[in-house]
This record gives sequence, structure tokens and C-alpha cells, in this order.
Amino acid sequence: MYIDTHAHLYLEEFEEDIDLVVELMVEAEVEHVYLPNVDSSSIESLMGITEDYKEIMHPMMGIHPCSIKENYKQELSIAEKYLATSEFCAVGEIGIDLFWDKTFYKEQLEAFEIQIEWARDLKLPFVIHSRDSLDETINMVQKLQKGDLNGIFHCFNGTHDQGMRIRDLGFLIGIGGIITYKNSGVKENIKLLPLEMMVLETDAPYLSPVPFRGKRNQSNYIPIIADQLATTLEVKLEKVQEMTTANAFKLYGTPK
Ligand SMILES: [Zn+2]
Repeated sequence: MYIDTHAHLYLEEFEEDIDLVVELMVEAEVEHVYLPNVDSSSIESLMGITEDYKEIMHPMMGIHPCSIKENYKQELSIAEKYLATSEFCAVGEIGIDLFWDKTFYKEQLEAFEIQIEWARDLKLPFVIHSRDSLDETINMVQKLQKGDLNGIFHCFNGTHDQGMRIRDLGFLIGIGGIITYKNSGVKENIKLLPLEMMVLETDAPYLSPVPFRGKRNQSNYIPIIADQLATTLEVKLEKVQEMTTANAFKLYGTPK
């Protein structure tokens, strides 16, 4: 069995045919999928879909760095309220994104730190988004790590050394569709990192693996990513399957 540790199946891209996508996912032996929130506008559909597919879909709560703008305090207070009143498997997705817009960098840092402290207080893992900001996000985690924080650097696209820093912090990296892209560098960079720190993810509907690149991503493509990871690390597919599943359950808890 496989786990998709990161997908946004509640977005409108899946509105029409989510039942089919779930069917394909189960056929592909992807038995659990973990859904990070984006911001206050996505909460209703996130909560709706995880209610519909309780056994296989597990919600997170947090505010994505690209949604940290003028009104970020209000956004944070909404997420905080949900975390206090409903059950979530993690705080996410949170982090720093300097690719799209640097205007709110200071606020992004503040919001990231606030949300990490929520995770600490609630004894939850957290899922990190970083784009053009991997050193900044690693530095933040390093600053706050007192041995009680854990989580995933989702969609890992860093160097071997950055991967080692993440491992030393006790964190995991999410391996997604970009491992199948020719010039992404992911294969070369993760080759010598331990499988013990890796989990699989799609980030659906984004970042489809080859040969579906450019089309909508779906959780049933996880085996394609697993296959490429096995080839890259030169281990058996079964080993990837077993270890990434164990890593995901260890972090998120075994589903009831
Ligand atoms: Zn995401």
C-alpha cells in the first residue's frame, strides 16, 4: 500500500469527478491521502470532502504562505479556531514563498513561526511549503527545534547538504512528481539521502509526474513517483512502499 502525504483533492479541479479519482486511487493501492489547507476560502470544501471520505482522507489546518497578505492576522485566527475545535492530523501547509511575491516576507516569517508554535502546543507535525526559500525555512525550524517538533519539507527540491540539515533536525522530505522531470536535479540531490527520511506525495492537482506532466495530477499517480524513487535509490519498489508508508504513519499517526 501507498500513502499520498500531500494533495489538494478538495479544490475545484476535482469537483466533477472526485468519486472516480478516489476509485482510481484505491485501485492503485493508495490507501490514505493527507490534505493540507490553503486559507480560509478552502476550509469549507476541505472539511466537506474529509467528512465524505473519512476513512481515507485526513485534513490539516494552516495558512499557506502565498495567502499571507494584509489580512493575515484574520486568516490566522480562523485557522486557529478550527485547530482548537476540530481534529487535524497536522498543521499545514505553512512556510515561506519568495517566488511569487516578496512584499509580505516579514509577515510570512511571523505567520510561519506562529503556526509552528501551534503545532508544538497541539503536539502535531507540520507540513512546510518553501519556494526560493529553503534555507530560510530550514533556519526557522532550526531556531525553534527543541526536540519536540516534527514534520515534512514538502516537495523537496534542495541540495544534498540541505537534505542533510533537514535530516539532522529530525524532519522528513516529501518526494513528488518533479523527481520524474529531466532537469529538476531532484534525482541527483536525493540519491545519497536515506529512505528513512522520505515520504511520497503528489501535491495534486499540481506537478504531475511524467508522462502526465502539464495535466491535472491525481493521487493514483503515486506509484509512478515510487517507481522513480526506487530506481534513483537503487532499492526494490517494495522497500520504498514499506518505508514511505511507515514514515508517514509514524509522523501523522496510524489512522483509526
Ligand atoms: Zn500543497
